Amino acid sequence: MFTNCSCSCGGDFSFSELIWQGLHTCEKLICTNCGKVRINSLEVNQSGIEPYIFYPNSELICDHEGNVVPDNWFSKKLKCLANPVIRDVDLEIKIINKFDRVLILNTLDYIYGHSFLYLLNLQRIIKSEKELGIIVIIQPMLRWLIPEKNVAEIWTVDLGFRDFNNFYPDLSVKINSELTRFKKVMLSKAYVIPTNENINIQAFTGIKPYNFLNEPSFPSITFIWREDPDRLWIRNIYLLKGFKKAGLGKLLIPFQYLRVIYLFRLLRRTIVTKFTYSVAGLGDFGKFPSYIRDLRVKRFTEDAEKMLCEIYSESTLVIGIHGSGMLLPSAHAGMTVSLMPSKRWGNFAEDILFTEKDVRLASFQRRIVPLNLSIFEIRDIIADMVTGRKQFIQKFIHTEDL
Ligand SMILES: [Zn+2]
Repeated sequence: MFTNCSCSCGGDFSFSELIWQGLHTCEKLICTNCGKVRINSLEVNQSGIEPYIFYPNSELICDHEGNVVPDNWFSKKLKCLANPVIRDVDLEIKIINKFDRVLILNTLDYIYGHSFLYLLNLQRIIKSEKELGIIVIIQPMLRWLIPEKNVAEIWTVDLGFRDFNNFYPDLSVKINSELTRFKKVMLSKAYVIPTNENINIQAFTGIKPYNFLNEPSFPSITFIWREDPDRLWIRNIYLLKGFKKAGLGKLLIPFQYLRVIYLFRLLRRTIVTKFTYSVAGLGDFGKFPSYIRDLRVKRFTEDAEKMLCEIYSESTLVIGIHGSGMLLPSAHAGMTVSLMPSKRWGNFAEDILFTEKDVRLASFQRRIVPLNLSIFEIRDIIADMVTGRKQFIQKFIHTEDL
């Protein structure tokens, strides 16, 4: 794992310590001749795609070809290593099965969706790793999703997502101290997109996803609600950005509220079959008409998350704004419509957990459409999905009979 390389002074860098920043796991090297410090972000997690080297003395970040890397959301997290936050960080160790040789899956990150996707690497690891004990490093909010019987240890770091904009040396000391218990320690690649196979979400949440062969009596069409300004259902991105910049993003929430009511009203008029209409997710703005079930929560707790997953799993279709808030809904619901804001197309499909083996059925059931489509277009898309699925399958998916 550790790198041997030469310093510009002609001396050699030698390994000093492992640094656990959060989304960066690094090896700190010091030149034996001039004392220059070089920090390599190990090629795991996001660094598997963007491996960088940080020189704290000059605050320069370089790629492996020696090119200086400008600040971006990922590279600049390395710079916090030069300004550590000195405080105690609680690390709770739960040992389930004792192993001498272990594989660590690090899910720490400053964004919920990233951590969640890292965690889903467990599916692949559990399936293929039979020798090493699996250790998961996790934050409290995602702790409930770990399938405990399949792992050796769980290390819970008592920090919130925002905290990982910083570096806490105390956390590194504590993790490194735990590592001395083992004869061999490996670090998982922890891919950003966790597996080439569909995720069996029930193994994580304990909740069976929607089953078209055994549909609930009153299946739901569910809007996934968020109130953060970046993820409001507002068609004009410049309006959204302007309000956000002025700190007035919340003033746009009523427009989303009215839009959701209007969409459900249009759907009720269009779809003959009886559906339940629900709003789930995070937030509490406004009171919905009686035909809309308001299942939003004010904060995510384990119980609230499980309740929401139950709602998703009873939903023929969920619709919401692109983002990590769509991961659990898409994994549990029968079908998904993800509304993609302008300028976000580089994150295509990252918020969808597919459940279909057949690519044509997947393209039917998981729609990623521009957020700025008219509400009438979105009504047509949803209405056709929930009423036309059976016919789509009849046309597209058949036996090999001659
Ligand atoms: Zn040197």
